[in-house]
Amino acid sequence: MTNVRIPFGKPFIVGKELFYIAQAVMNGSIAGDGMFTKRCHQWLEENLRCRKALLANSCTAALEMSAILAGIGPGDEVIMPSFTFVSTANAFVLRGGVPVFVDIRPDTLNIDERLIEASITPRTKAIVAVHYAGRPCAMDELKKICQRHGLYLIEDAAQAILAHEDGHALGTIGDMGCLSFHETKNVISGEGGALLINNPELIERAEIIWQKGTNRKAFLRGQVDKYTWVDIGSSFLPSELTAAFLYAQLEHAGRINAHRRKLYKEYTKQLAALAAENHFSLPMMGEEEETNAHIFYLVTRNEDERAALIQHLGAAGISAVFHYVPLHSSPAGQSFGRASGELPVTDRTSSRLLRLPLYSELTTQQVRMICEKIRQFYARTHGA
Ligand SMILES: *Cc1c(COP(=O)(O)O)cnc(C)c1O
Repeated sequence: MTNVRIPFGKPFIVGKELFYIAQAVMNGSIAGDGMFTKRCHQWLEENLRCRKALLANSCTAALEMSAILAGIGPGDEVIMPSFTFVSTANAFVLRGGVPVFVDIRPDTLNIDERLIEASITPRTKAIVAVHYAGRPCAMDELKKICQRHGLYLIEDAAQAILAHEDGHALGTIGDMGCLSFHETKNVISGEGGALLINNPELIERAEIIWQKGTNRKAFLRGQVDKYTWVDIGSSFLPSELTAAFLYAQLEHAGRINAHRRKLYKEYTKQLAALAAENHFSLPMMGEEEETNAHIFYLVTRNEDERAALIQHLGAAGISAVFHYVPLHSSPAGQSFGRASGELPVTDRTSSRLLRLPLYSELTTQQVRMICEKIRQFYARTHGA
């Protein structure tokens, strides 16, 4: 659509992106693992406080690395929510793993930790915690479950950059965490991601897998005298062009999130009265919670009302969207995975959740305008 005045999202430049790209070219090498890659690694390790960060071509690629590192093989089961993006499951299916889909909690839309133990079998190898909208899963509980059953805990923190739980950055709590810098996320590099490794036993192998299964990293450090093929791997590392763009964004990550939080709070304030009248529900937020405001959503009363509201906003030039087709009801999800019983909260949420525009260049004024249109919708068609 060419006449959309407020798109759902929009990529953006916040600082020295183009300057750093030029600098990378001037440095004389734009393959991966150069100066900007190292700067990004250092930024992530210091600001998120993890043992090791490795940039990847995407969060999808980081998840694929995590599946190799967790030793997932044919028939191994991996517990995860169904209400998530395809890559959460696909990364494990590529290794022959079987996704086991568990329902989500109605308040956070994260995996319901109370349902996990019932879906553990002798084949279970790992749990993937997806932090939906950048809000933390119940990590203490998930950690305890993993310890009790000897499972890996992998965080799909694609949406969660700089979000915290109890002072720990999301993505740094489990054995491994995966971030996304896709252009739809808070901090972007077009395509891009990172694997955060917190379990020290996995670091050495991670570096090998990252560099096409070679010991190049150890060779460059002078730890081995031959550079050779030692394990499976792939070309998981991005070029310096991507890393240069990303580093400029990371330098302003705090500011990016602060602006999104401001917009998020404005949405909450503007829509509180309609929510109180039960036209829809809003994300429930703890008083202390410091969100990274990745997604602002509302949950409508039913699917038809959501469709009508999307149309009403669309007519006013405002693009609102929804997701996900639950993985357990997708064609690939049904052939490669299985649902752990019924998933009523997942089904209900995916048919009624609506995401409103949220991006760096969106203004408070525009948020008020969007909310005004929403008020108009409920006043006209549903007698608020
Ligand atoms: C965006 C997203 C991904 C995939 O990220 P890419 O960087 O595009 O590969 C995976 N999981 C979740 C939950 C996401 O939101």
